[in-house]
Amino acid sequence: MNIENLLRENIKNLKAYSSARDEYKEVTNEMVFIDANENPFESDVNRYPDPQQSKVKSRLSDLKRIPSNQILLGNGSDEVLDLIFRAFCEPNQDNVITLPPTYGMYSVLANLNAISIKEVLLDSNFEPNVNQILKTQDQNSKILFLCSPNNPTANSFEALKVEKLIKEFKGIVVIDEAYIDFSNQDSWLSRLNEFQNLIVTQTLSKAYGLAGIRLGICYASKEIIAVLNRIKPPYNINELTQQAALKRLNAIDTVNTEVKMILDQRTQLSKVIEAIDFVENVYASDANFLLVKVDDANNRYRQLIEKGIVARNRTTQPLCDNCLRFTVGTLDENQKLIETLNQL
Ligand SMILES: *Cc1c(COP(=O)(O)O)cnc(C)c1O
Repeated sequence: MNIENLLRENIKNLKAYSSARDEYKEVTNEMVFIDANENPFESDVNRYPDPQQSKVKSRLSDLKRIPSNQILLGNGSDEVLDLIFRAFCEPNQDNVITLPPTYGMYSVLANLNAISIKEVLLDSNFEPNVNQILKTQDQNSKILFLCSPNNPTANSFEALKVEKLIKEFKGIVVIDEAYIDFSNQDSWLSRLNEFQNLIVTQTLSKAYGLAGIRLGICYASKEIIAVLNRIKPPYNINELTQQAALKRLNAIDTVNTEVKMILDQRTQLSKVIEAIDFVENVYASDANFLLVKVDDANNRYRQLIEKGIVARNRTTQPLCDNCLRFTVGTLDENQKLIETLNQL
């Protein structure tokens, strides 16, 4: 597959903005920087940040065993996904395929970019309907979004189905792995180089505990990353975010300990919630949340709010009739949830 053919015309020829910091990269203390109209008085943040975030990428590269030139960082996954839309989808012409029930940002970003959406529902096991997806694609279908583990259904998709889709879909396949650190399944990063049309996105917002700093990560071929680099805003990752990300990536043991605690709590919580009489089903989870089918989601949601617990009501989503989504919290928070559900 030739990625060049999938790009929008204006993107093929786009020249990136050359920032002051792009022209001269080796920052040493002896040099005088009078190229960017910054305030010269030193604080932690008086200089523009590294537009290529080389320290963060180098650390990610070591952790994930992916070369830095196959990594792009965004202001949250939201920005990463938006850049992918802008690179490949011609407004008022192209379409993308999403598999509801799934993450809401794919359709928000499609609408924002004037891209139409073809929806192919997951099957009753929350798995992709492979044949129907392949039948639905047309010559303007540029991106297929696979969220695995999927939000809000909490399952990972069968690897063979995903593989068939990557091989047979004629556009870009984005696998959103926001929850991969909570999953039993291998990340598709290990197979990134087998597929020219594969983009894997991850984030520091969930397992890494840094939702507040906004850092999303995109892994792809170096050709795709080079295109996204040309269209990203030059200083999209601010200095404070880069510092906080680096600190956390250098404390990976803490992340692993926290993930392990969340997974233990997920198991406990799932068992106890299953036994509650108005609960009809607790779906298997490969993420840090549980999708729970109850007798009357709107009513239970309201009752929980009255007791000071804010869950996510997913009952209006297809295949999620009367479902609530509970994020696994701390031991105390989970205890409070259980007590409250039992009182109800
Ligand atoms: C939470 C979540 C994200 C994270 O988005 P950020 O912008 O990186 O915080 C991405 N994808 C899915 C499916 C999510 O649930």
